[in-house]
Amino acid sequence: MTAAEDIIIARDVHKYFGDYHALRGVNMSVRAGEKIVIIGPSGSGKSTFIRTLNRLEPHNKGTIVVDGIELKDGSNLDAIRREVGMVFQSFNLFPHLTVLQNVTLAPMRVRKASKAQAEQVAMELLERVGIPEQASKYPAQLSGGQQQRVAIARALAMQPKIMLFDEPTSALDPEMIKEVLDVMKELAHSGMTMLVVTHEMGFAREVADRVVFFDQGNIVEEATPHAFFANPQHERSKLFLSQIL
Ligand code: ADP
Ligand code: MG
Repeated sequence: MTAAEDIIIARDVHKYFGDYHALRGVNMSVRAGEKIVIIGPSGSGKSTFIRTLNRLEPHNKGTIVVDGIELKDGSNLDAIRREVGMVFQSFNLFPHLTVLQNVTLAPMRVRKASKAQAEQVAMELLERVGIPEQASKYPAQLSGGQQQRVAIARALAMQPKIMLFDEPTSALDPEMIKEVLDVMKELAHSGMTMLVVTHEMGFAREVADRVVFFDQGNIVEEATPHAFFANPQHERSKLFLSQIL
């Protein structure tokens, strides 16, 4: 497939926080429908990289093109955020809004959906993530796993073409991890383009088309999960795997 058909193209992407060089020339191309799992040590730039893809962090050098939209100063943020949904470790739901209101807010504000339309879509999505009965509750009344499933439904309500997940299960108690991973697997099987930063190696083996290993602000190695876990090439990937597996 040619580069023109890639839904994400990142070329020589650099990011500085003051003097600190957090991303050091990252290159990545993602085809529509591909599932990428991003792993690597803490501080290696995983979050910073995926946040550049929806411009939560503007990059300082290099080129990022998302579904044909080049991300640069003056970019149409609304257009990019419609294309790219994001789910965070800490859920980030609006605490003063009900579950249903959390899911309908952006479609009504940004996509100008009517309340009735937005609520119909929201209820379908809450069914999809398995918690339609929680629609009128507030986030604080839900378990962590339920809150994260609301966060996924909220992101999907904007009908994104790409979903970014930044350690979506890291803040969850162990018994809630599976319910969130199951929703993510269903989404993967539906054909969504997904970039997932996670320590869940079972998920990586089962779902990823490619595992991408970050270290010190750059991609050190990438491979199919089978090849990566069976036979990591780089010393730093070997060390990392020996520490987490
Ligand atoms: P990871 O997600 O792989 O753990 P991050 O992308 O969060 O790593 O961070 C990469 C590096 O950039 C770290 O050294 C971190 O301290 C630094 N960093 C991240 N965000 C900021 C920020 N807003 N200001 C200053 N430094 C930051
Ligand atoms: Mg991170």
